[in-house]
Amino acid sequence: MSLLPVTLFGDKILRKKTSKVTEVDNKTIELIKNMFSTMHNANGIGLAANQVGADKAIFVVDISALEDYEDSKPMAIINPKIVERSEEKIKMEEGCLSIPEIRAEIERPKEIIITYQDVDLKEHTIKAGDVLARVMQHEYDHLQGILFTDYFTPEDKKKIKPQLEDIKNRKKEIDYPVSDDVSYQLR
Ligand code: ZN
Repeated sequence: MSLLPVTLFGDKILRKKTSKVTEVDNKTIELIKNMFSTMHNANGIGLAANQVGADKAIFVVDISALEDYEDSKPMAIINPKIVERSEEKIKMEEGCLSIPEIRAEIERPKEIIITYQDVDLKEHTIKAGDVLARVMQHEYDHLQGILFTDYFTPEDKKKIKPQLEDIKNRKKEIDYPVSDDVSYQLR
């Protein structure tokens, strides 16, 4: 297993809708394993494939480091689709490994129903709530090229602009491996 560089705000691949996975070969399995190590190394609880420069509709989730969620299992989610969103919305604080040190309360549906495939491409449908629903919606957005800062108000977007510029220009010190330019793609 190895650590992969994490793509940063401004990197082109983070704005691209990722491609559907049609075959899970050894390379895909290796990618998923490396996504887990990369996420754990950076103390993340979710990571999308384009956050490591891969154009694939895959994200990984592991919320077991959070208090009260110790029993939850790490999951690799392939070709997800959110098929239902609860009308009830809640605010929760979010952060993103691709946008280090920026955190904000974002309002999203409290519960979702999501369909996805596992590494055997077997189809699953699950209902997720609270923290799990939150992480899944954030990662699902990544796969569509959407970032959590897109939900900021115009005033808040203005406020974080200098920080985003620093991230984009690699002027911020980050304690995990990151991509070295905006065109980075995993080979
Ligand atoms: Zn993120």
